[in-house]
Amino acid sequence: MKTHQYEVLIIGGGGAGLMAAIYASKGASTAVLSKLYPTRSHTGAAQGGVGAALGNAEEDRPDWHTYDTVKGSDYLGDQDAIKFMCDVAPEVVYELEHMGLPFSRNPDGTIAQRPFGGHTNNNTGKPVTRACYAADRTGHMILQTLYQQCVKNKVTFFDEYHVVDLITANGSAAGVIALELATGELHIFHGKTVIFATGGHGRVWEVTSNAYAYTGDGVAITLRRGIPAEDMEFFQFHPTGIYRMGILITEGVRGEGGVLLNNKGERFMDRYAPTVKDLASRDVVSRAMYLEMQDGLGINGNRYLYLDVTPETVNKYAALDGRTRPDGSAFRITAEEILSKLPDIIDFCHTYLGVDPVTQPMPVQPTAHYAMGGIPTNARTEVFIDEKDTIMPGLYAAGEVACVSVHGANRLGTNSLLDIVVFGKEAGLRAAEFSRGASFQPLPEDAADFSCEQFDRLRNGSGKEKAADIAKEMKEVMNDHVGVFRVEDGMAMALDKVRELKERYKEVRVGDQGDVYNTDLLNIWELSNLLDLAEVTAASALARKESRGAHARDDYQERDDKKWMKHTMAWLEDNEVELKYKPVTITDYKPKKRVY
Ligand SMILES: Cc1cc2nc3c(=O)[nH]c(=O)nc-3n(C[C@H](O)[C@H](O)[C@H](O)COP(=O)(O)OP(=O)(O)OC[C@H]3O[C@@H](n4cnc5c(N)ncnc54)[C@H](O)[C@@H]3O)c2cc1C
Repeated sequence: MKTHQYEVLIIGGGGAGLMAAIYASKGASTAVLSKLYPTRSHTGAAQGGVGAALGNAEEDRPDWHTYDTVKGSDYLGDQDAIKFMCDVAPEVVYELEHMGLPFSRNPDGTIAQRPFGGHTNNNTGKPVTRACYAADRTGHMILQTLYQQCVKNKVTFFDEYHVVDLITANGSAAGVIALELATGELHIFHGKTVIFATGGHGRVWEVTSNAYAYTGDGVAITLRRGIPAEDMEFFQFHPTGIYRMGILITEGVRGEGGVLLNNKGERFMDRYAPTVKDLASRDVVSRAMYLEMQDGLGINGNRYLYLDVTPETVNKYAALDGRTRPDGSAFRITAEEILSKLPDIIDFCHTYLGVDPVTQPMPVQPTAHYAMGGIPTNARTEVFIDEKDTIMPGLYAAGEVACVSVHGANRLGTNSLLDIVVFGKEAGLRAAEFSRGASFQPLPEDAADFSCEQFDRLRNGSGKEKAADIAKEMKEVMNDHVGVFRVEDGMAMALDKVRELKERYKEVRVGDQGDVYNTDLLNIWELSNLLDLAEVTAASALARKESRGAHARDDYQERDDKKWMKHTMAWLEDNEVELKYKPVTITDYKPKKRVY
């Protein structure tokens, strides 16, 4: 088996992984392993913007950003980490600008910003323009810019290498095992440090905005190595996915003045969030949409509503809201402005729906979007292995795979692109620093045994089960019972179902027996990750008897700070999920009821 040696091994070539690589490669030998070509990572799909209190259009302050994030998290976010992220946000956004990121611009040449859900002027409670954007392709621009910097810094890439296991030695991270897609060979990567930056796991659900590659590999691999997963019950449903397909329509549409309408043509968010209306946080808007549809107010009785960004509608509601431009003049938008600010959205709607958003409303429904939970870390991106904050030396995680926790029970839009650059950078710096003072741990002789057995079993499986059937049943049950609204019986049923599917998975048949580009085999391996994460999600959700952020229970409708102001830590062992809890870090902001 081929063995490679680098001081820093970065798993994932998305925004977090590439930012880590730029910084790690300045001080240590660094390799990035990615199952996709880096520029195909999901970061490239991000549309709306990256949050930073630059104050280019109106007054804004990092401490307002901090408060909004704490409030958006429904007080489950760790306030020290949130403050760190929001304070450094302007600095990292300017850093991206100096790397050459082509942001949209204001007439005076400064970076353009737009309003986004949950971001407010703390004095007035009204939406503030905080999201820095490059049209509706912000993530694409971040990914391309970071990749160019990596090429400039001569970072070594192992593209289409699928990491399948973590190697530990003497209680420290010591490397990973990866399957090379082109040959089917397993390789050993020996490292002083390992950074997981593998993104999210929205493919657990049926209707999702997430890429096919979002199968939660990082969390599943670390769970198998005895590392817990934090706050997995909190998974965000974004309000505006294209009906049935789940493809995302950015919140930037509502930032530009778009409104949600029900079957009666009524702007229902007035009733649910009187101050910020359509720009309430995502959990609030998704729940409002469900309630409207439950009341038969979906369009033509269907399970979708309209998102309307036609100039006529935008200008009507902007006038009713008394919305003004930064210079005090009345806010008005033209068809040309919509075309220039939301070109990709207009394109998607033409392609997938045959709808022209400049003249017609878009049919939308909530879509599974973002994992607040993941591998537990501190703000230095070091990984915790228990509820007492014990660190595994040499192991780091950053980006959507990690739970710092800056998003708590609900993430605000634009805070993930911020998270990946802030904590990606931190991971790169910390791993390089650790490497300078550490030597390579000796590789255990049986380092590759687990992976060899796992893949031999899969390749030689002669069972009758089809992976596609198992995946479909898992996605449906998770969408129906561990989705926007949850109740005891439904979640318990979902958990049983997932366990039954895991049994059936043992009998799964791999169609392709070859070695070269065997994506069939890897997709089936990815399904095992999704099943593990579905189980941990359902078990964590079932145990939490309250409603907070994205975890909304019909049978426990109130937030219960006395009993549940704590993070869940879940271990997965032989079909058992063990749950423990740890306190939330509260510094400046005492928990209050959220009002929007
Ligand atoms: C449609 C959409 C729009 C969004 N819009 C916004 C927005 O406007 N603003 C915002 O703040 N957030 C947005 N988000 C969220 C945000 O884009 C993501 O959370 C963020 O980009 C994740 O970055 P990442 O670096 O953690 O992961 P990714 O960019 O997904 O990168 C993951 C990397 O890990 C690699 N990988 C995964 N598993 C393995 C494995 N087993 N072995 C090797 N490599 C592996 C992949 O190849 C990939 O390179 C959006 C998300 C979606 C889905």
